[in-house]
Amino acid sequence: RIFHPAPKEGNKMKANNLGSKIRDEFPIFKNNEKSVNGQTKPFVYLDSAVSAQKPKHVIQAMVNHLENDYGSVHRGAYGVSIRSSQMYEDTRHKVAKFIDPKINANQVVFTRGTTEALNILAYGISDVYLNENSRIVIPAIEHHANLIPWQQAALRKDCELAYISMLGKKGNQLTLNLSEAEKLITKNTKIVSLAYVGNVIGQINPIEEIIAMAKKVGSLVILDCAQSMSTHEEYLFSLGADAIAFSPHKLYGPSGIGVLAMSEELIEKLPPSTFGGGMISDVTLEESQWISGPAKFEAGTPPITEVCGLGAAIDWVEKKGRKNIHNHSSELAKIFLDGLKNINDIEVFSPESGQETIISFRHKKIHAHDMATILDSENIAMRAGHHCAWPLIRILGVDALIRCSFAAYSDRDDVEIALEAIKNASKKV
Ligand code: PLP
Repeated sequence: RIFHPAPKEGNKMKANNLGSKIRDEFPIFKNNEKSVNGQTKPFVYLDSAVSAQKPKHVIQAMVNHLENDYGSVHRGAYGVSIRSSQMYEDTRHKVAKFIDPKINANQVVFTRGTTEALNILAYGISDVYLNENSRIVIPAIEHHANLIPWQQAALRKDCELAYISMLGKKGNQLTLNLSEAEKLITKNTKIVSLAYVGNVIGQINPIEEIIAMAKKVGSLVILDCAQSMSTHEEYLFSLGADAIAFSPHKLYGPSGIGVLAMSEELIEKLPPSTFGGGMISDVTLEESQWISGPAKFEAGTPPITEVCGLGAAIDWVEKKGRKNIHNHSSELAKIFLDGLKNINDIEVFSPESGQETIISFRHKKIHAHDMATILDSENIAMRAGHHCAWPLIRILGVDALIRCSFAAYSDRDDVEIALEAIKNASKKV
């Protein structure tokens, strides 16, 4: 594997105290301390898989941009517009480098999120690459964002959508069934699309093996990197991906913006699915022509200040080190997992090893939604529900799970406080 060079600061930091060291960089924590029965309760945010909190560095970059340089991009001959356009395109270069030196800025599209990115891909690919004999292969346990667009593509082209199942429903069986994948990925397979890291059970999918299977039969490979971009630094295009998507709001950056990076072939061949200003080379009353490159997919006024925030988020993440963030947050997840084992009636739905920064579980006598409400009364934020993955929840045979997810700013106190609150709730039933 090819890794980004390790950052100097990242090397020095000890994995298990990163959270305590950087907590003050995140104003949200101080601003959300709560008084419960005269006692100050810290804000324990354990829902970073849904969206990460933002460091001052990102917040300040966006405020500075809005106060000093804000203008619409690629539309004005005046100062603020020129400066905003420069920042917008400079960030495109930064994003390309952050993903993989193998790609260039002209392969990076700014979207509204991972969801929009995957929709652009599924729509465009169905138009150009699929016919009624084609097969699309995805895991059955995907986030809806990487499932519904392919269902729609299969419907549009009247082709097959095949699902890779999991090996089993418990412990280390919560991983993709690779021998089944091999049988499904045959020469009529045109697309294989999967998450690098699962958003519900936190499994790391074996992307290298799946990419190898896809390449053997000439299929395109798409990676949904929504959950992996802040912790994994492999060069994904060098590994063989044809397109990747991620959401900066999970990378300590703003919401309202997404990234879609594509091979040169895809960026050239895929048609746009949103039409309007900024994406045309000519318009007459009879017909219109699209410009080439990323702007073809960026109709309308794009998320400008959000792009500025994304650039700042990349700088921040690179300074802390993705490997360092990964070690730190997966170590906390492991401690949390071990603690859960000592609490009665808890059932864990994450792999014992090879899991990421996410642990999903349920209490046999307290519904996940009730547990989330109990935790909230202690100022602890965890998400409960189906986590935008209905098929996976059904496969696991549950109606809802509670998910605990860790990030760079999480610390040992978060783990202890959460475990204590779950233990106390458990004692009362
Ligand atoms: N894919 C995965 C694995 C996710 O975890 C998410 C968000 O939770 C998405 C896609 C969708 O991302 P967004 O809502 O930012 O478009």
